Amino acid sequence: MLVSAKEMLEKAKAGHYAVGQFNINNLEWTKSILQTAQEMNSPVILGVSEGAGKYMTGFKTVAAMVKAMIEEMNITVPVALHLDHGTYEGCYKCIEAGFSSIMFDGSHYPIDENVAKTKELVAVCKEKGLSLEAEVGSIGGEEDGVVGMGECADPQECKMIADLGIDMLAAGIGNIHGKYPANWQGLSFETLDAIQQLTGAMPLVLHGGTGIPADMIKKAIDLGVSKINVNTECQLAFAEATREYIEAGKDQQGKGYDPRKLLAPGAEAIKATVKEKIELFGSANKA
Ligand SMILES: [Zn+2]
Repeated sequence: MLVSAKEMLEKAKAGHYAVGQFNINNLEWTKSILQTAQEMNSPVILGVSEGAGKYMTGFKTVAAMVKAMIEEMNITVPVALHLDHGTYEGCYKCIEAGFSSIMFDGSHYPIDENVAKTKELVAVCKEKGLSLEAEVGSIGGEEDGVVGMGECADPQECKMIADLGIDMLAAGIGNIHGKYPANWQGLSFETLDAIQQLTGAMPLVLHGGTGIPADMIKKAIDLGVSKINVNTECQLAFAEATREYIEAGKDQQGKGYDPRKLLAPGAEAIKATVKEKIELFGSANKA
């Protein structure tokens, strides 16, 4: 059964650890992440971007697959199925498809419009039992064609959005999506601290978790980050393991071309990445 992310994140915030959001792209991704979360007895959030949803033929397919996997794999840890960087229309599609959590990314709207649309979605999510993430200050890098500049959010705007009744808040603190450039300035802990002081118990979300050094991750968790999004890192690990398999000519040995063999090293690499993150975030045995 899917659960909203509300309770697991409130527990994480109070317990000073973070729950990983791992983005999914297909069956292998989903299976690897669910298996690892179960093995480590950790709550988990499966993230789905609008692009990944389209790739998997639609949000209904995704919700049906994830729900069936939880049942068939006997997954007992809390699992939230979450729309990542949802558009206004995408949010409603996921609510209808049976997701348990959504992110409305209104960061590109003027603040008044972001507030109005977020308020509306707060009411709908409360009624249907979903958790809702909102974003203030665009997060840098590129995700599904949306390019942000990596700005730092205004703590007052964060408070205004947090007070609307959302369950988690993503705020730009110099983090970016994808690989971090060599000249990256690092996270702005000053901004994060100012946001936390104004938003109190609100679980904060760190996007672009790939390549942020472990000590910065730990400090961010100390300062109130309770959900960390990981996407690119699993993709890189999958690609590298698959490349090694092909380059070693293993697809040409015996039945090495069988997709269940061909995709196995990549799936194992995703599991290793997820395990490492769960350990770093401190969510093992918190299910
Ligand atoms: Zn993001």
